[in-house]
Amino acid sequence: MTSYDDANIFARILRGEIPSHRVYEDAETIAFMDVMPQGPGHLLVVPRAPSRNLLDAAPDTLARLMPVVQKLARAAKVAFAADGVTVMQFNEPASGQTVFHLHVHIIPRFAGEPLHPHSGTMEKPEILAEHAERVRAALAAG
Ligand code: AMP
Repeated sequence: MTSYDDANIFARILRGEIPSHRVYEDAETIAFMDVMPQGPGHLLVVPRAPSRNLLDAAPDTLARLMPVVQKLARAAKVAFAADGVTVMQFNEPASGQTVFHLHVHIIPRFAGEPLHPHSGTMEKPEILAEHAERVRAALAAG
């Protein structure tokens, strides 16, 4: 198996070396806005523990990740008054993975509206900031 490279962009975000629109963090996990959203409110949930993806992650990392995914999926659905939520996760390039630190995508969905392309268009920072604020507000409202 290919090994973990800690120069990947999410490891750099975790270390605070590059900025992100962070909406949530705890001792094991962070979540921030995807900069090339496949729909409004597209979030990424990232465990702090290093692994390339699901295939090499420790079971304990996965067990701690899923409750946070659920919390953020619920908040994103409320924040964007969505009809549903898509949760996705890719493993290795053949599957579509482009950043090699485990992460889960959360995308609010609206009836009849298709997803935008994966890693498509960069969103404006002010829109990402506004969307992040909506998610934080939904989390705070609990
Ligand atoms: P994946 O194909 O599952 O590895 O997805 C990586 C995701 O990370 C894509 O949806 C990208 O739009 C997103 N992405 C790449 N760079 C950044 C970044 N600096 N901040 C937030 N999201 C990013």
